[in-house]
Amino acid sequence: MTTNLQLKHVANAEARVVAHNIVNPDNLKTMDYSAVPYAVFTSPQVGTVGATEQELIRAGVPYRVVTQRYGDVAYGWAAEDTTSFAKLLADQTGERLLGAHIVGNHASILVQLLVQGMRLGSTILQMARGQLWIHPALSEVVENALLGLLEQGADDVIHPATNTDSETVGHHIPDTSAVREQP
Ligand SMILES: Cc1cc2nc3c(=O)[nH]c(=O)nc-3n(C[C@H](O)[C@H](O)[C@H](O)COP(=O)(O)OP(=O)(O)OC[C@H]3O[C@@H](n4cnc5c(N)ncnc54)[C@H](O)[C@@H]3O)c2cc1C
Repeated sequence: MTTNLQLKHVANAEARVVAHNIVNPDNLKTMDYSAVPYAVFTSPQVGTVGATEQELIRAGVPYRVVTQRYGDVAYGWAAEDTTSFAKLLADQTGERLLGAHIVGNHASILVQLLVQGMRLGSTILQMARGQLWIHPALSEVVENALLGLLEQGADDVIHPATNTDSETVGHHIPDTSAVREQP
């Protein structure tokens, strides 16, 4: 563990990088700390990845935000879920996801769909429409949230007052330039 990200899956990934570098000193890898997810296994569950809205505001990053309630997709409606939700944050163009925060049943599983898209460099359009979403699965919460971001326009972009405190948000915003850890 070499950062303040005290998570088992981070430690495992770091260990794989260290093991690789010991065996391959002429082909060193670095650890990719972009889009590190985590979950809180409470009731309701919390699954999260990337920047929070507060972090974007503090850093002065313009963003789009959408909140998708579980109850507005078929599975959540059938479960009579009136409290769970997914909140997604995108860059101002609606191209890249900056953060995702889900509170409700299976949040840790649902957020993984977005981690995959972020880590593989997918755009929001690719995540939303580059695949078919099973109906009436709970994953439609994620699909609808992504579509909600795409439906927004320039008028929906939130422009926080500029703040130079970019350190706060630095390691949470996906850095696609980082060297990817290879499986
Ligand atoms: C109660 C608890 C619950 C947690 N739950 C979760 C969770 O649900 N999800 C999650 O992602 N993370 C969880 N974590 C965090 C996660 O366990 C740690 O982030 C992760 O194990 C860190 O891995 P590590 O390899 O860096 O350190 P460690 O797993 O602590 O391993 C360090 C090893 O080094 C050994 N060691 C220390 N000093 C020496 C020495 N001088 N010589 C030789 N060996 C030494 C130790 O004995 C230990 O085996 C939890 C942590 C705790 C304490």
